[in-house]
Amino acid sequence: MRTRYAPSPTGHLHLGHVANAIYVWGLARRAGGRVWLRMENHDRIRCRPEYEARILEDLAWLGFEPDGGVHPLLRQSDREDRYREALGQLRRTSHVYACDCSRKRISSDQYDGFCRSRGLAESPGRGIRVEMNGAGDLLLRDRDGHWTYHFAVTVDDIDQRITHVIRGEDLEATTSRQVELRRMLGIETVPIYIHHRLILKPNGEKLSKSAADTGVRDLREGGLSADEVIGRAAAAVGLIERPRSISARAVSDLF
Ligand SMILES: [Zn+2]
Repeated sequence: MRTRYAPSPTGHLHLGHVANAIYVWGLARRAGGRVWLRMENHDRIRCRPEYEARILEDLAWLGFEPDGGVHPLLRQSDREDRYREALGQLRRTSHVYACDCSRKRISSDQYDGFCRSRGLAESPGRGIRVEMNGAGDLLLRDRDGHWTYHFAVTVDDIDQRITHVIRGEDLEATTSRQVELRRMLGIETVPIYIHHRLILKPNGEKLSKSAADTGVRDLREGGLSADEVIGRAAAAVGLIERPRSISARAVSDLF
């Protein structure tokens, strides 16, 4: 079993990230598997190096250690050549095309294929899509030149030979397209996808990285120990009934 912990350095870690780490390390340790770290910084506008440094620091403080260490760290921003290569591979087997649709024009979640047969030239300011049967043609690179989440993680999971993807249930709907994209990239194996509950705010919204009351850093500054933070996340996601101290080494006992 090879799984991954893949934060985006767009903010600080909060209890939602800790809950995901509990599942990733807990299930991996239980199965004798290994955890790989990846920085999902494909969005160059929102991601910042200082957030990456903080995330690594907070993870170390919590006691979650990736088996492959943090050097070298796999960062999506370092993988431009690899994504270009994967795009070239898709071009040989699938219909890849430029798209200049604005978000506004694409009202629904599924792209309607408007640009599929327009024969637009690829140029800055235009996105790149691939034709995908029955699922809405997937955006691979956006109009600002960023590789999309779906494309980058699919290539990354292939390259890191990930066998188990453990992530929040908000990403469940993306699974079938990522599996299809793998096939289109010539990979026949399919990882096992495990989607876990999310920690929600009392009003039902997802936690955000700006939410000070759940930030690992704020809880730490407020005097909580690492084990208490882990326990609080475990309780918030429903793994235990009420918060108690749990060390990162002991999270496998929760499964
Ligand atoms: Zn379009």
